[in-house]
Amino acid sequence: MTYDFDLFVIGAGSGGVRAARFAAGFGARVAVAESRYLGGTCVNVGCVPKKLMVYAAHVADEMEQAAGFGWTLEEGHFDWGTLIANKNREIERLNGIYRNLLVNSGVTLLEGHARLTGANEVEIDGQRYSAKHILIATGGWPQVPDIPGKDLAITSNEAFFLKQLPKRILVVGGGYIAVEFAGIFQGLGSATSLLYRGDLFLRGFDGSVRTHLKDELDKRGVDLQFNSDIQRIDQQADGSLKATLKDGRELLTDCVFYATGRRPMLDNLGLEHTGVELDERGFVRVDDQYQTTEPSILAIGDVIGRVQLTPVALAEGMAVARRLFKPEQYRPVDYRNIPTAVFSQPPIGTVGLTEEQAIEAGHKVRIFESRFRAMKLTLTEIQEKTLMKLVVDADTDKVLGCHMVGPDAGEIIQGLGIALKAGATKAQFDETIGVHPTAAEEFVTMRTAMR
Ligand code: FAD
Ligand code: NDP
Repeated sequence: MTYDFDLFVIGAGSGGVRAARFAAGFGARVAVAESRYLGGTCVNVGCVPKKLMVYAAHVADEMEQAAGFGWTLEEGHFDWGTLIANKNREIERLNGIYRNLLVNSGVTLLEGHARLTGANEVEIDGQRYSAKHILIATGGWPQVPDIPGKDLAITSNEAFFLKQLPKRILVVGGGYIAVEFAGIFQGLGSATSLLYRGDLFLRGFDGSVRTHLKDELDKRGVDLQFNSDIQRIDQQADGSLKATLKDGRELLTDCVFYATGRRPMLDNLGLEHTGVELDERGFVRVDDQYQTTEPSILAIGDVIGRVQLTPVALAEGMAVARRLFKPEQYRPVDYRNIPTAVFSQPPIGTVGLTEEQAIEAGHKVRIFESRFRAMKLTLTEIQEKTLMKLVVDADTDKVLGCHMVGPDAGEIIQGLGIALKAGATKAQFDETIGVHPTAAEEFVTMRTAMR
């Protein structure tokens, strides 16, 4: 049977664009459908605008530090509208780059909502297309618990387009997005509360990292409320919001921001016309080669709910393109030792096992930990501390995990990711000559195990 396309990709986000471009580069006839925005979540309402806003918030730190270096600054004024307009212009530029990338690599771009009508057929705006392989790369969508007044709350999708900076904000959740946006809003001047339902946020991160960040956010004046959850939200006569907590307390605010995880985006996707099954959490079920339970249909990225990070979606997109159209170059994605950063203020960088995971996995561990005030702060009054930690296997000397909270943690952890991938030992860390004077050199100079 002949098909209109060899590969039909649904979703021009991180994973979809990567798969489409590489498949076309390998000579396949490829179409990609996009209903909303080119570049997907990361470019439009994720990594990129978030990082720009983190930079904006960080300017407040730089200004605070300036006096220690002899600078006298006029009292600074921050204009939210300017930040959002400039951010929007940059995102539009990136949208254009994504369009060119796709078109120049020979991919047919179809703008509209795609719906599966069969195992090898997709419909967009009433037009049907057949394809030998279909790739679901539709990403995710914020998930807000079903409480009275939930429609009064915003999510990250709206946070990027608020008309003004809220004077007071309640951020709900304890994951990446909650912690990052608490830092953004606090840095830009909102009175910020972070409500998390458990004892301590960032479940799954190393225990030292979690407590260290908690202490630093405390110092910065973020109002951290753990073991707290909202029962209902009501609008007040003056337009402000009242959040009633499960323990009966009432908090007044101008904005409630839910960052309580993301569900797979499967709305009106037509899965019922195919044999595609979902897993117990509602994500698309795939095997280790991203094939769904319908053999002609594959899925990658946030919609499969493995690791919801852009570089992972990119790697999965590449793996699918290679497997289908360049099998001799196929390599499975290695999910071990994925470096990641939380762009909180200060940021977290982490790769490998946490101390808790290493012990749980049966390793006998040696723990190296260092806490210090960064050199840049020594001429200032700021008391922020940096944390660096290594988790080492006591039997093999292999470094199992590297964790950091402090300036540039994301930048520093990338290189350590390579070291862990190469299987570096603590002795090799010790033999590595430091770059002086940097914070990063601490990772190669921690000599005495603290546990
Ligand atoms: P997406 O990028 O979401 O792309 C899916 C695309 O499919 C979308 O463009 C959507 O419009 C389209 N689509 C959906 N349904 C249809 C349909 N039926 N027809 C046509 N098109 C459709 N990751 C990091 O690594 N670093 C970060 O700093 C980071 N920050 C983040 C900050 C925020 C606020 C959020 C929300 C996420 C962040 N992420 C970050 C996660 C990252 O954005 C995602 O992991 C990544 O975008 C997933 O890529 P994807 O290809 O699976 O899906
Ligand atoms: P996460 O899964 O990281 O965190 C969700 C948080 O919400 C958890 O603290 C969870 O608590 C809490 N939560 C879940 N359900 C409820 C509920 N019903 N009521 C109250 N609290 C609840 O999701 P995010 O939304 O923060 O981010 C989604 C994903 O996007 C991240 O996991 C990450 O993969 C990616 N991302 C990556 C970034 C980066 O690389 N820097 C930045 C932003 C996002 P509990 O722990 O108790 O379950």
